[in-house]
Amino acid sequence: MVNNIKILYVEDDDAIRENTKKPLKYFSSDLFVASNGKEGLELYKQHKPDIVISDIKMPHMDGITMAKHIKEENPKQHIIFITAHSERNYFMDAIEMQVDGYILKPIDYNLLKSKIIDIKETIELKNKIKEQETLLNEIAKFQNNLLVVLDKNQDIIFSNEKFLEFFAISSIEQFRHKYNRLAYLFLEGEDFFTPKGTGDKHWIEQIQLLPDNKRIVSILDINSFLPKAFLVTLNFVEETNHFIILFNEITNIAIEKKEFKQKAFTDELTSIYNRTFFNEALKKEIASFKRDKQIFSFIIFDIDFFKKFNDTYGHQTGDDILIELANLIQMHTRDADIFARWGGEEFVKILPNTTLENALKVAEHLREIVDKHIFKNNLKVSCSFGVSQVRDNDNSETLIKRADDALYKAKQNGRNRVEAEI
Ligand code: GH3
Ligand code: MG
Ligand code: MG
Repeated sequence: MVNNIKILYVEDDDAIRENTKKPLKYFSSDLFVASNGKEGLELYKQHKPDIVISDIKMPHMDGITMAKHIKEENPKQHIIFITAHSERNYFMDAIEMQVDGYILKPIDYNLLKSKIIDIKETIELKNKIKEQETLLNEIAKFQNNLLVVLDKNQDIIFSNEKFLEFFAISSIEQFRHKYNRLAYLFLEGEDFFTPKGTGDKHWIEQIQLLPDNKRIVSILDINSFLPKAFLVTLNFVEETNHFIILFNEITNIAIEKKEFKQKAFTDELTSIYNRTFFNEALKKEIASFKRDKQIFSFIIFDIDFFKKFNDTYGHQTGDDILIELANLIQMHTRDADIFARWGGEEFVKILPNTTLENALKVAEHLREIVDKHIFKNNLKVSCSFGVSQVRDNDNSETLIKRADDALYKAKQNGRNRVEAEI
């Protein structure tokens, strides 16, 4: 088994050299033999053997000098010295060189054999690791995702080429230098994960608390300067304490989802929130009232005689009025308030942290704004308003019903007016 490594053997004593060649040939079919350090060094440069076995005291160039030259070329070169008792004064030099072993003459061939086998096994192990690294790199190349491996300190110790390309760097050392830590790069966003607190190191623990499909981060793409969305897949390797992390790009899906969500919550005609969104918002508002006693008020309003308006000016003009009215009210809506189209020519508003009294003022103000507004083509409309404030034991229906009754009363009492719940 130990026959495919190259050995250089250097010995000036003819008899010893001839004797030792035979057992060495058993280990290596690639055996090179020299009779002094100078010859040995030349053969070394020519053949780059795996192991150098050398006598120390030799003419022209001694073994120590030769070994020094060799170590300059390859500091990791495996070297075994064979020394006589009389050459002990060389010993200290030899020890300093950090060679693989010393064997005293007369040579114990079993000892030599075991030393060669040790070195051979070391070489084989190193080659195997190198081979596995190459293989891992090749496998990683197939990945269309960004792939990184973190050690137990969450430092990146491996990445695939896609990862380096994405960050426009050539090595993970450069990544550390330029960006420091991965979690620093996660951008804030409604649907994106960012670590809480000084969580750069704990982001993995944090993101693992999320369900698989919520583990989405956004990172700025250095090449296009656009933020990209990635689904993060984590794999903990227990045996080695490593994390393998995959960043699977889902930017298009994320954009579609956002657009879809926006569409689902937007009224097609007026582009303000629709009834679906409003219902969700109202549920949340009622929940927070029940939890924290955060009061709020509710306004519903409806265009007066809009059927007649449509009949007079046509449905298209009616649509234009609805759009213009929605914009007008939106302009006069506070950030905290939620304004939505309830349906047809009816609109609703949630006013967080607002009493009935103040909501009535808001409604009166809006009524006036609409009443004074001159719409496109010099047209005019007015609205009637009903207002309610949330009460204990309210649900969406009861709260809306009281405002709706108030609106009905406003219509009954002559329209273009505001009425409060009773
Ligand atoms: P009131 O003062 O009692 O509210 O009278 P009104 O005519 O406004 O009430 P009614 O509920 O009888 O009629 C509502 C009208 O609103 C009917 C319909 O023509 C109009 N409308 C509802 N939705 C739309 C819409 O999307 N576009 C247009 N152009 N008109 C709409
Ligand atoms: Mg109506
Ligand atoms: Mg109406």
